[in-house]
Amino acid sequence: MTEMSDFLIDEESKVPDPLEMPEITPGATEGLKPFQAKPQHQDALGFPGELIDNWQETAIDKMGELLGKYRSLQVYLDSCVKCGACTDKCQYFLGTGDPKNMPVARQDLLRSVYRRYFTFAGKYFPKLVGARDLTEDVLDEWYSYFHQCSQCRRCSVYCPYGIDTAEVSMAAREIMDTVGKGQKYCNEIIGKVYTIGNNLGLPKKAIESTLEGLEEELEEETGLKISMPVDKPGVEVLLITPSADLFAEPHIQGLMGYAKVFHEAGISWTLSSYASEAANFGMFIGSYENMREVSLRIRKAAQDLGVKRIIFGECGHAWRIAYSFLNTLAGPFDFLDPRYPVPQHICEFTYGLMNEGKLRFDKSKNDAYRLTYHDSCNVARASRMGDMPGGQFEIPRAILRATCNHFFDMAADTIKEATFCCGGGGGLLTDDLMEIRIKGAQPRMRALQQVQEEHGVTHMAAICAICKAQFSKVMPHYGFDMDSILSVHQMVANAIVMTGSIQEKELQEEQQKEKSDAGASEGQAA
Ligand code: SF4
Ligand code: SF4
Repeated sequence: MTEMSDFLIDEESKVPDPLEMPEITPGATEGLKPFQAKPQHQDALGFPGELIDNWQETAIDKMGELLGKYRSLQVYLDSCVKCGACTDKCQYFLGTGDPKNMPVARQDLLRSVYRRYFTFAGKYFPKLVGARDLTEDVLDEWYSYFHQCSQCRRCSVYCPYGIDTAEVSMAAREIMDTVGKGQKYCNEIIGKVYTIGNNLGLPKKAIESTLEGLEEELEEETGLKISMPVDKPGVEVLLITPSADLFAEPHIQGLMGYAKVFHEAGISWTLSSYASEAANFGMFIGSYENMREVSLRIRKAAQDLGVKRIIFGECGHAWRIAYSFLNTLAGPFDFLDPRYPVPQHICEFTYGLMNEGKLRFDKSKNDAYRLTYHDSCNVARASRMGDMPGGQFEIPRAILRATCNHFFDMAADTIKEATFCCGGGGGLLTDDLMEIRIKGAQPRMRALQQVQEEHGVTHMAAICAICKAQFSKVMPHYGFDMDSILSVHQMVANAIVMTGSIQEKELQEEQQKEKSDAGASEGQAA
């Protein structure tokens, strides 16, 4: 049997500190940039197909429009005092050493142009205030470095003025889209949501056939008929989940976990083929219009199906948008049952049932895992959960502790509000950005290596589809198997003891046997 002492180390850790300052390497990642969107990807979202002739004038006009629309943007551009507190807080700087990946330097790429065209000093004494003309070289630099920011907001936590580089990065991307320099990955995906309903382009037939296969698997495993419906009208809950949950591991095990929880709670639910995507890449490109368009699909699906509640599955930025903006973008949701929050997170739902004593778990079913938890940046820093401060940190951990015997947190300065991005968020989860994804994952991977060394941790759970997809790709670069990343509801699926299931029967038999063994040894002792 493995003892805790097997994992304790008596010498200094060999794993480098996740927060270690890198060697400063100017220009290290200036050549890294994503593929540009093709004309058809741009057209579908109402953006010009390629760089327009009067792009410079249009870009400056757009910047003026954004400064008027989002007062916070102007405040962020005006208020930086160059204190340096944010310089070493970005995972892309820590992983690459490129000084332009320091949050303050990233902001300055836009700030310098803002100063040139929108401030008195910049118009008349540009050199004195570091103001720059918007040239094609500057636009190229924007394209590169604003796609090396995952909009994770880690830097804003440490800025004494709360300057949010994520918003600066969103504004830069919106300006680039407006002049015809969009990113292929994000824009193609948004187009797929409009035409097919989800990022992966899964048609209804494919969704139905996946769900049928999963129902069969669940029946074989549990002996129960657990329904996984799509487009079923009149049910209580519309589940909006990332399309990755219908397609890839470990996401799909999470979906099976949600289905088990709904079944055990006796709550009817359905997916929608029209709104078969929780992810909303409109946020990544900074486009309110596209973010709204995608959100309105959820409202329409809920109304068409006549549900009472909307619950979101495990997706980080989807929850950021749902929690923070869904009512503004697509509300009011006065047609839903007012007894429930709009929207609700699947973790809040499961946690609520746990607290009501409606779920039973056999933790030993997860004994193969020594587990840690990755706080996804969008959940940690851009939203909340439950009705308590810090609920977004405590609720997923409470679920993991209830379903698993061996849980260990990573270093305090790398989790919760201080968590690192997985390296693939914010529209970076594309193979053309693999190098920056691997380097950006470095701080999180080092923190994971530390708990592996100290506690023998074997797996990490997360509640974000992007995190799961990113980690399964980059973990092998840091010495972990690609299946070392798990869904939180995968742990639920493994441990839940469902009424009338094969697992319940087995557990009862085990308990019965333990009782008679104990009785027999008491008898012998007497
Ligand atoms: S990736 Fe995160 S920490 Fe880095 S600049 Fe962007 S928002 Fe800040
Ligand atoms: S921490 Fe804030 S004020 Fe200080 S350099 Fe960074 S963005 Fe500027």
